[in-house]
Amino acid sequence: MAKRVAIVKKDKINAGDDWQRLAINACPVNRSGTECITMGEDGKIQIDEATCIGCGICVKKCPNDEIIIVNLPEALEQEPIHCYGKNAFRLFSLPTPVFGKVVGILGVNGIGKSTAIKILAGVLKPNLGNLEGEASYDDLIEHFKGTEAQKFFEKVRSGDIIVSYKPQQVDQIPNTTKGKVRDLLKKVDERKKFDEVVEELQIGKILDNDIREISGGELQRVAIAATVLKKANFYVFDEPTSYLDIKQRIRVSKFIRSLADENTAVMVVEHDLIILDYMADLINILYGKQSAYGIVSQPKSTKVGINIFLEGYLKEENVRFRDYQIRFMKAAPIKESKRNELTSWSSLSKKLGKFSLEAEQGTIEKHSVFGVLGENGIGKTTFAKILAGVEKPDSGEIGPEVKVSYKAQYLEANDELVANVLKDAVKNFNTQIVKPLGLTSLMTLKLSELSGGELQRVAIASCLSKEADLYLLDEPSAYLDVEQRLLISKIIKDFMEKSGKSALIIDHDLLFIDYISSSLLVFDGEPAVKGIVKGPYSMEEGMNVFLKDLGITFRRDPESNRPRANKPDSQMDRQQKSKNVFYYS
Ligand code: SF4
Repeated sequence: MAKRVAIVKKDKINAGDDWQRLAINACPVNRSGTECITMGEDGKIQIDEATCIGCGICVKKCPNDEIIIVNLPEALEQEPIHCYGKNAFRLFSLPTPVFGKVVGILGVNGIGKSTAIKILAGVLKPNLGNLEGEASYDDLIEHFKGTEAQKFFEKVRSGDIIVSYKPQQVDQIPNTTKGKVRDLLKKVDERKKFDEVVEELQIGKILDNDIREISGGELQRVAIAATVLKKANFYVFDEPTSYLDIKQRIRVSKFIRSLADENTAVMVVEHDLIILDYMADLINILYGKQSAYGIVSQPKSTKVGINIFLEGYLKEENVRFRDYQIRFMKAAPIKESKRNELTSWSSLSKKLGKFSLEAEQGTIEKHSVFGVLGENGIGKTTFAKILAGVEKPDSGEIGPEVKVSYKAQYLEANDELVANVLKDAVKNFNTQIVKPLGLTSLMTLKLSELSGGELQRVAIASCLSKEADLYLLDEPSAYLDVEQRLLISKIIKDFMEKSGKSALIIDHDLLFIDYISSSLLVFDGEPAVKGIVKGPYSMEEGMNVFLKDLGITFRRDPESNRPRANKPDSQMDRQQKSKNVFYYS
């Protein structure tokens, strides 16, 4: 087996690009007379991994990271489970489903999580590294001889395991599916649990809507409903909480947990660590090198698995997969002595059709990041528009009016070039924003060619590079993996600290909000009917108000200091509730 992986990102290369010749001519193996990096028939380079010595000289000739050369761990002896092609991503192992348990998959983007669960779900037929064709179940059983995966594929072959799978990109469902939600769900209701599932997932009000007319959060819940209505004993969910607000996330997590019993296995890929912690019994970490290769760790308990992931080091495998540790603060930050005021408001009210919004008196200070918590449809964006002067309140005063730069929740991917969108960002904040967000290599691409995570990072950089007093970012964590979420937290915090500006961050990932915010605004009320803005509060006070309303308590993990949701009715949960301490004990 080759000891290194050479990736050529062919979709980023135009046939005949000049720099390819430079790479071919510079390769020391080529120069010594052995073929290593050569021009393929498609006018794009290819690399022979068997002769490549991993010197990395060709990588330096790439304008936009088109080549990745990486050494595989010494201990890795097996052939890949699946390889997408010559010089393309490969996955070396698989997580194992466990009956009666929810197994969580944790890893950065581009490391093979979706590939792994698509293979287990039977959506992708693996090739065991043989590019000539798919492997049969007999081949897979032979390949996994003596492991749990052998038993799994034996059961799949004999028809004893039936899989139901929810794909990651629910926003693409309307492109391939037509009709009313009710009809679509009735069609797949093999378990005759239509009413129960509709009630659990709170989708009763949209049953008569066309699938193309519902929101992202509704699509997500309809996709989950369709998955669980099918008769199966292995349910697989790829990112089931994207687009959902925190109340919906908790509800969906409880529902997914309830599916696992002695005859049913559940597997979940999830980037919201608090939700993953709440939902999963076991965790498999995927590590390796993004876009190059992925390896699945042994299963760990959820607590240990998440802490290992944050530490970046797998002790049993003796693998360091990140060169830094992710740390959380020990206690909620104490609000510093009052900083200069950016803007403030008296008691406000605003009516928009049937929806009304009220705000208690409040102040936004400079140099600060305000987390904004609340359900979907409760007036968060309307409030920001009032601060920006775009909407006038019916009663109450705001002053001084501030200039707002806004990143929307849903991102539009048109044909504009990234370089054009980020012109100001490159000119003024190249070191502070563009480089740390890894955007340099995307400049020659169109927005429509970016992945969800790339588009999100471009939108964040574009928002921060605009001249404004207040930056409003609506769901900046969507499509980003855990590492990227924590990286953008740091960039946004540093930016506000240095520039004297402030940010309002609307997000539903509580760990992300905990990491990024110095104060909190909490939106209460009833979605689409009434919103009440409370705060700003200190972190501790605000989280306490918010979690009390949800009926959930949080503690700090003693090792990583990350916030963890207590299991409902556990000793800790009861103790904290009796003391009225819902956050940080
Ligand atoms: Fe040639 Fe070195 Fe590139 Fe391998 S890493 S293809 S040996 S230049």
